[in-house]
Amino acid sequence: MDTTFEALFAAVAKVGRSERGWTRAPWSDEVHTAEELAVAAGAAVGLVATRDGAGNLWLTDKGAPADGLIAAGSHLDTVPEGGAFDGALGVVSAIAAVSRLRTEAVHGFERLAVISFADEEGWRFGTPIFGSRMLTGGYGAAVLDRRDAHGVRLGDVCPPTALDARGGHGRLASFIEVHVEQGCALAPAGAALGVATGLAARARYAFAVEGVANHAGTTPMEGRADALVAAARLVLAADTAAREEPGGVATVGQLIVEPGGSNVIPDRVTGTLDVRAPTPEGRNRITAGIFQIVAGVALEPLSTDPGVAFHPTVRDALRVAAARASIAVIDLASYAGHDAGVLGAAGIPSGMLFVRSPDGVSHNPSEHASAEDCEAGIDVLTGALRLLLDDPPS
Ligand SMILES: [Zn+2]
Repeated sequence: MDTTFEALFAAVAKVGRSERGWTRAPWSDEVHTAEELAVAAGAAVGLVATRDGAGNLWLTDKGAPADGLIAAGSHLDTVPEGGAFDGALGVVSAIAAVSRLRTEAVHGFERLAVISFADEEGWRFGTPIFGSRMLTGGYGAAVLDRRDAHGVRLGDVCPPTALDARGGHGRLASFIEVHVEQGCALAPAGAALGVATGLAARARYAFAVEGVANHAGTTPMEGRADALVAAARLVLAADTAAREEPGGVATVGQLIVEPGGSNVIPDRVTGTLDVRAPTPEGRNRITAGIFQIVAGVALEPLSTDPGVAFHPTVRDALRVAAARASIAVIDLASYAGHDAGVLGAAGIPSGMLFVRSPDGVSHNPSEHASAEDCEAGIDVLTGALRLLLDDPPS
């Protein structure tokens, strides 16, 4: 067992812990405390801590070049009452891998860097993947006026220099994020690790279905206009269409039924539909399939994301490193947002390595990966960083 990893992960896992899970809100004392642990672990192997304008924490060599950095990392914030692994595993694994390569004094080690991105989960201010998006110009000035549930303004808690951080990702020649698996593909495949092919294409829609409210008892079934029955057809159509697309998923996660009386036929149902697939074409096939089944329901797009394909050189480095360490890996697509996806979409050669989660649970206190699998992840990350130092992606 890697003592660096074991001790640091255990120390971070004490921060923000309660009986109900782990809560390290963005810009909170808990995140700061976790970051200080990362800073101290980095300092022990000569890494210097700095923050960019957006508040992302960088651990680099004191002689690090201005660009061409070979980096790894993730985030130390969590969702409310989340798990110990999402984010922390990636930061701690990066520190462990970079520490090993520095201790070995491998050629070019001064180009290695660890990044802990700020506010990745985004739940407090509605700003997912804040730190990497500020670097890549994905958020403008208006985002700083967003307020949390207590009325606190984002611009008053994040660094005043957040908007100046734009372009900061240009220091990176590559980035790898190790992450606990979100889903349940690795265990059935007998693989400890998964190399991400990319992040799935996504689309989120709002819909409204109108009906006619009337007495639940005195209105015969013939001639009713029940908005919830129509919405239910949409729910089932989404389920059917997604099952027909390989790797596709579709979810109606919100339904508001009005007027909401137990003895009143619903006259209005509003809701949201979330569609994801490995490619934008697959995502569009699901949406088209839904329309084929239920004509006449208007979907209003809330957000769309084409996803990203991770860089072939970074994926190869992870696969080669795994083969050399005799560790079983499979390819898999990721269906969530990640800092590595933001950087990859902005042209930084990026990749992700998922560590088996036997139950496939994430954003929940029971999220888990075994010590052996985490160790395998560090071995593969270390090997991949070594390969990328020797032969950076172009
Ligand atoms: Zn995460």
